[in-house]
Amino acid sequence: MEREELFKEVSIKTPSKIVLIVLDGVGGIPFREGKTALEWANTPNLDKLAKKSILGQTDPILPGITPGSGPAHLAIFGYDPLKYQIGRGILENLGLGVEIKEGDIAIRGNFCTLRDGVIVDRRAGRIPTEENKRLCSRLKEEIKEIDGVEVLFTPGMEYRFALRLRGEGLGSEVLDTDPQMVGKSPILPKATDPRSERTARVAEKIINLAKDILKDEKRANFIILRGFSTLPPISPMQDIFRLNPAAIATYPMYKGLAKLVGMKILDVDGMSIADEIKTLKENYKDYDFFYFHIKKTDSYGEDGNFEKKVAVIEEFDRFLPEILSLLPDVLVITGDHSTPCRLKAHSWHPNPFLLYANTIIPDEQERFSERACAKGGLGRLFSVDAMGLMLAHALKLKKFGA
Ligand code: ZN
Repeated sequence: MEREELFKEVSIKTPSKIVLIVLDGVGGIPFREGKTALEWANTPNLDKLAKKSILGQTDPILPGITPGSGPAHLAIFGYDPLKYQIGRGILENLGLGVEIKEGDIAIRGNFCTLRDGVIVDRRAGRIPTEENKRLCSRLKEEIKEIDGVEVLFTPGMEYRFALRLRGEGLGSEVLDTDPQMVGKSPILPKATDPRSERTARVAEKIINLAKDILKDEKRANFIILRGFSTLPPISPMQDIFRLNPAAIATYPMYKGLAKLVGMKILDVDGMSIADEIKTLKENYKDYDFFYFHIKKTDSYGEDGNFEKKVAVIEEFDRFLPEILSLLPDVLVITGDHSTPCRLKAHSWHPNPFLLYANTIIPDEQERFSERACAKGGLGRLFSVDAMGLMLAHALKLKKFGA
């Protein structure tokens, strides 16, 4: 029996509520005076909660494997990240609210700067989002259909955009056109299986048309296409876990991930934690599972900005009482992967994991930190196993077998 069949069999619908908080990339390694950002931060509310909770560590994929946020999130949502591989093109499109159907090809694109046939800036000088919108609307207007394939451009943030191809007989096995470094010529789209030849031909025509349309632009005068992908066959959380799930996130990719597993994407009016809390409160009665994403812990980890990472953790701590006041039956606080300031990148270190419910045996650890979690009663788990624990502690799982 597979994991999903098991959960389909034992999951039951109950009114109990689960709140899953993902502080993206929150875990770290010692950075200042031997302390991590979580250890350095002043977090009275998290400390108080830690004493009443059970702690542990989670490995997003496998020990030693550094994941992207995509697979790391799928795992926390209860899906085997090795079984479902989700292309960046899919994530980018879904995150921008583009409808993706079976058979569609989803691609992520960059505007870039081309000079004398070579790419001199892979991000077109990080053009402002407004400029991106203007360029995408021109491309959208002028490239609507190629050889019977419907083409849709959607602007993202700064230099990024999403591209969707819809038509018959399109495969997704096409290599990126990104040479990955400046000073090199862009690569032509190349299919690696016969089913994807048509996709590659259409993509090449799009690139040539875009080059002509953008020829008078100073910075964004060319496009790079990456992450050609199709929708993986994935059952929604409603079917597997009998949940009615909702997502509160501000960045496109995370909304896309949540949508992929069937979550309702709730509107957040703004980008701050306060705005997200407001959305949580307003929608609390309507769903039984909330995924609440905080992005900035990861962004500052990648920048190596320890102060700011600490500040985001402290800001979250100030809002924690508001979440607790909703009285969720299960509250989990964790990361998707670690992003240590010292490495300025995602890493393989396990995530700190905290579970609060009235069915646990509290560890009585003094803090929510990497070290406290290493001593926690849950021990070390795979992220994919967290969902079972959340459901069990919310009394949403019945006995397996007689
Ligand atoms: Zn992440």
